[in-house]
Amino acid sequence: MSDGAAKGFASVVLDVDSTLCGIEGIDWLAGLRGSDVGARVTALTERAMRGRIALDAVYGERLAIVQPSRAEVEMLAGLYVSSLAPGAARVVRRLRDAGCRVVLVSGGVREAILPVAQRLGIPDSDVHAVALRFTADGEYEGYDAASPLTTAVGKRTVVEALALPPRVLAVGDGATDLAIRPVVEAFAAFTGFVTRDAVVQDADLVVTTFDQLLDLVLA
Ligand SMILES: [Mg+2]
Repeated sequence: MSDGAAKGFASVVLDVDSTLCGIEGIDWLAGLRGSDVGARVTALTERAMRGRIALDAVYGERLAIVQPSRAEVEMLAGLYVSSLAPGAARVVRRLRDAGCRVVLVSGGVREAILPVAQRLGIPDSDVHAVALRFTADGEYEGYDAASPLTTAVGKRTVVEALALPPRVLAVGDGATDLAIRPVVEAFAAFTGFVTRDAVVQDADLVVTTFDQLLDLVLA
């Protein structure tokens, strides 16, 4: 899109893992199963985020390996809050005060992300992520396999359906975020935690901090 790099946006679509927060949630959960399992799951995530394999191919596999309990997901929720990107809470609040719509669109675990969203003043209805199911005693039972967010281009489907006020800026570090680009005015690669060349290369903009993002959106 020709005006992709122009400043000023009414809506911001934010990725969570390695963008809003400096962790990869499912990888962290995998680490609870020992370093071998952690390394195996992290490798699958990294290949999907570089676009080397489709997320669809590994989503269920990663959760089947990890089988996180409700208590572990609650621990992860605390970690999301404590690993917020520098300035993120302040910047998201300022964007929202200025009337900008901020939505979270993540392939991560919805129950783990809701508390950090609440901390930022983002309503649950603007949090789009993958819900898990637990048994009555809190054991892992399954995930919402029908969610488009378990697929490589699912974020595009979700963002398109939201029909957000234009202009819309999508921000993220991974290949699944880049997939949103065709249905928004601009995509910014976020490189505050990780830099993936394949994502940066096709981005309209590159931001390393939330303060840069603020400048871009409110201009
Ligand atoms: Mg990410």
